[in-house]
Amino acid sequence: MRGLRVIVAAAAVMSASCAVAPPTDPNAAFRAHADRFVAELMAFYPEWAIQAGEYRHAARLTVPDDAARAAELKFLAGQQRALAQFDPAALEPLLRADYHQIRNFLESAAWRNRTLRSWQWDPSEYNVATPFALLLNTDYAPADERLRTVLARLERVPAYYAAAQASVQRPTREHTALALQQNRGALQVFGDELLARVRASGLGADEKALFAQRVQAARAAIEGYVAWLAALEPTLTPGQARSFRLGRELYEPKFRYDIQSGFTIEQLYERAQGAKERLLQDMERHARVLWPRYFGRKPMPKERNALIGQVIAKVSTRHSKPARFVDDVRAQIGALQAFVRERDLVDQDPSKPLVVRETPPYNPVRGVAIASIDAPGPFDPDATTYYNVNPMSDFTPERQESFLREYNHWMLQILNIHEAVPGHYTQLLHANRSPSLVKSLLGSGPMVEGWAVYTERMMLENGWGNDAPELWLMMDKFQLRTVCNTILDYSVHVLGMSEEDALKLLMQDAFQTETEARGKWRRVQLTSVQLTSYFAGFAEIYEFREQQKLALGERFDLKRFHNRFLSFGSVPVKVIRELMAEPETALASSPDAR
Ligand code: ZN
Ligand code: ZN
Repeated sequence: MRGLRVIVAAAAVMSASCAVAPPTDPNAAFRAHADRFVAELMAFYPEWAIQAGEYRHAARLTVPDDAARAAELKFLAGQQRALAQFDPAALEPLLRADYHQIRNFLESAAWRNRTLRSWQWDPSEYNVATPFALLLNTDYAPADERLRTVLARLERVPAYYAAAQASVQRPTREHTALALQQNRGALQVFGDELLARVRASGLGADEKALFAQRVQAARAAIEGYVAWLAALEPTLTPGQARSFRLGRELYEPKFRYDIQSGFTIEQLYERAQGAKERLLQDMERHARVLWPRYFGRKPMPKERNALIGQVIAKVSTRHSKPARFVDDVRAQIGALQAFVRERDLVDQDPSKPLVVRETPPYNPVRGVAIASIDAPGPFDPDATTYYNVNPMSDFTPERQESFLREYNHWMLQILNIHEAVPGHYTQLLHANRSPSLVKSLLGSGPMVEGWAVYTERMMLENGWGNDAPELWLMMDKFQLRTVCNTILDYSVHVLGMSEEDALKLLMQDAFQTETEARGKWRRVQLTSVQLTSYFAGFAEIYEFREQQKLALGERFDLKRFHNRFLSFGSVPVKVIRELMAEPETALASSPDAR
C-alpha cells in the first residue's frame, strides 16, 4: 500500500480554454498545455483537488446531478479536442508519456459517465465526509480561513444528497450496505467537536450562527440519505438488486482503462494460473527442505498444500514483539539500503532519507495497514518521506499476535523490500527526478505496485537473505497473494465464481487465514479490476526484463535497466517499454543519459 501525502500544487495560472497560437517547439507547447490541463482539471473536480492538496476551489461542492454529469462530458470532450492538436510522435518521451496518460484519463472518465454508470448503482459513491475532514485536519491555511471554506462548502450538502437520491437506481445490495455504513460514519465529521471548534474560533457571531445552522442541515441530509437507503435495502432481493458482479462487457473495458496492460485480461489470467502452479511447486520444494528442521522425524504430510501450510505455520512463529516492531523495521531499512548499494542493483539517494515512524493516530491506514509509505509529491520533493509502521498499540492481544505471525521475521523483510527499499520508496525517488503533475495525478497504479512486487523477487534472486528457504517460502506466499487476487477478481466478476469457491481458493491454495479470506471476498464484491493491478504490473515488468536479458546478452546490466525503467516515472509498463525501445541519447532528462 502506498499513501500519497497531499501535494501542494504549484500555483498554475488558470487560463481560459481559448485557442492560443501554438509556439513552434512542440515540447514547450505541450508543457504549457499540460499545465493548463491540470489547472482546469483541478477546477472542474474540486473534491479531487482537495485530496491532491490544491485548495483554490475547495469552497465549491459538486452536486452530483444530471447537469453535473452533462457538464463533465462537455468538459472531457473539450479537453479531448485540445489534446488532439498535439502529435505524440513529435514529443520527447517524458511528455509523450503524459500525453498518453491524459488521453487515457479523458476516455476513461467519459466511459465511466456514459457506460459504467456506477453513479447509478453504487450508492457509496455519495459521501461528503472526506473533503470536509481533509479541510479541517490539514494545516494548509490559518484555522479561521479553513473554517470559512468549510462554511461555504456546507451550503450545498442538502442539494448534494437530494441529487444522490435521485441518481441511485437499482443499486447492488453490497454497495448499498457499504454506503449505509460509510455515511453513518460521515456523521462524526459533523459532530459536537466541530461545533465546539467553531465556537472557539475567530469567526464572527453571524458566521458562527450560520455555521451551526448549516451543520445541522448537513446532518439532516446525511441522516435522510441513510434512512432512505435503509428503507431501500430490504427490497434489494436477488431478483431486484443489481448483481455486484461486473460482467464481461464492463469488465474488459474497465481493465483496459484502469490497468493499461500490454496483456489482455485473458492473457493475464492465464499467466496468473501458470504462476500459481509454479509458486506452489517452489513452495513444496522449500517446505520439503524445511520439514526435518522444524518437525524432526515426524512424517511429512502426503498432500502438497497440507505440507506447505504446516511449514508456513511453524515458520511464522518466529516474529517480533509489539514494543520492538518499529525499531526492528528501522534497523532493517539500513541493511536493505547497504545491500542494494553493495550489489549495485539500482540508484539510491542518500540525501533524501526515509524516516521510519509510528503511524500517526489521525492516519486512516492506522486501523488497517501494517506499514505504508507517506511520500511527498513532486511539488514538494524536499519534504521528508515517512515509512509509517503500525505500532499495534490499539490492537487486542489476539490481533497483535495474528499480525505478528503474518509479518513474521521472514515476511517482514519482504514487506520492507516492497514498501521501502528498493520498492515504493526507491521508485518514488526516481519518479521525483522528473516531476510532473500529470504523472502524480494520473499515475499508473499497476506500474507502481508491479515494481514493488518485482523487487521482492529481484532482491532474493540477487542474494538477499542468503537463500534461506524460509525467506523464499514467505516471498512465494506474498506473491501467491497477488496472483490469487488476479484469479479471484476475474473469476468473480466475469466467470461467476461462488463465495465458497473463492474462500477455498484463498484459504487452501493461498494459505490465507479465514479472516483474511473473508475480508478479500468482501473487497472483491465492492471493487473490480483493482485487485489485478499488482500481478498485472509485476508480470509485465518481469517478462520485459527477461526479454531484455535475452536480447542484450552480455551487455545486459541490471542496474542500468532498473535506473532507466524508473526514469520515466509512474507510467504504464507498456508505455515504458515503448520509450525504452528508443535510443537512450534521446532522453535528455534521464539521469543516466550519455
Ligand atoms: Zn504496494
Ligand atoms: Zn507468537
